[in-house]
Amino acid sequence: MNDRARVVFRSHRVPTDAAPICEIEGFAMSAVSATAQRPSVLLLGGTSEGYELASALAARRQWHTINSLAGRTEQPRRPAGETRIGGFGGVAGLAAWLRAHAIRATLDATHPFAATMGWHAAAACAQAGVPLLRLERPPWTAVPGDNWHEVADWPAAVERLRHLNARRVLLAVGRQELAPFAQLDQAWFLIRCVTPPLPLPPFAAAEVRLARGPFTLADERALLDTYRIDAIVCKNSGGDATVAKLVAARERGLPVILQRRPPRPPTMTVTDIDAALAWLERVTKPAGE
Ligand code: NAP
Repeated sequence: MNDRARVVFRSHRVPTDAAPICEIEGFAMSAVSATAQRPSVLLLGGTSEGYELASALAARRQWHTINSLAGRTEQPRRPAGETRIGGFGGVAGLAAWLRAHAIRATLDATHPFAATMGWHAAAACAQAGVPLLRLERPPWTAVPGDNWHEVADWPAAVERLRHLNARRVLLAVGRQELAPFAQLDQAWFLIRCVTPPLPLPPFAAAEVRLARGPFTLADERALLDTYRIDAIVCKNSGGDATVAKLVAARERGLPVILQRRPPRPPTMTVTDIDAALAWLERVTKPAGE
């Protein structure tokens, strides 16, 4: 069993009419012959867009897709197609991986707040001569009635909470980014995250609420009212799944401290799946067609 076979998982039946697939430790043997003719594509995922794009690619059957997840979640949902898990070992590791797998195009659908992977993908694809496209949901933008305080980082958010004299804060920043807020002794925090923050930083007063979006407007209104929330801290993730808290905050005139997105390399970017498929079609077309 080689390294590749150990890290590749098959989450979907390989789109082929061949006899039942033979699997050895998660490696779909018939996939080798079925995919050999199709251009190989790397899809950097870990987002809802990544899952949607993986399904769209599998439905088209034109490409051999290898999804890549960072491996932060213990039991991640498997996207359609093959999946590998874990970092590549920086720019050099990714460039070598692209060459070794004869990747014809890379799609970067990582989260807008994944600050490093996009830069690595841009540098590695340039080195390996592989076309790169970014699929990214647009950020949220303020509308009349919003009371937003945009910040670059969490220390600035902590300062803003102090300045606002916030007492009951909904903290929706992800379980790994809580620590800077634990120094705010005067506030009580409702920490919302998908998986338990272990260990929990030493907050003076906090409650953890495990929940995974999407969240409805009715739910968010009830949450803000029940817990008498007076400020929200979150990232400008964009998208529909978690926007309702901003609407509920606007209705109540509550301040929202919103972290701006980190800088990105100047990669060609689209916001929808159809545009990504059209790009892929173009860049993987055999020469002369
Ligand atoms: P990051 O800071 O951009 O990446 C840190 C390192 O993790 C990268 O240098 C790379 O390691 C590895 N990595 C990241 N995404 C990868 C992928 N899709 N496949 C393989 N390796 C990957 O990212 P992060 O903020 O730690 O986020 C990790 C993953 O969680 C991302 O894929 C992202 O889409 C997802 N996510 C992040 C957030 C967020 O708020 N940051 C929210 C939701 C989902 P090597 O240098 O070793 O290659």
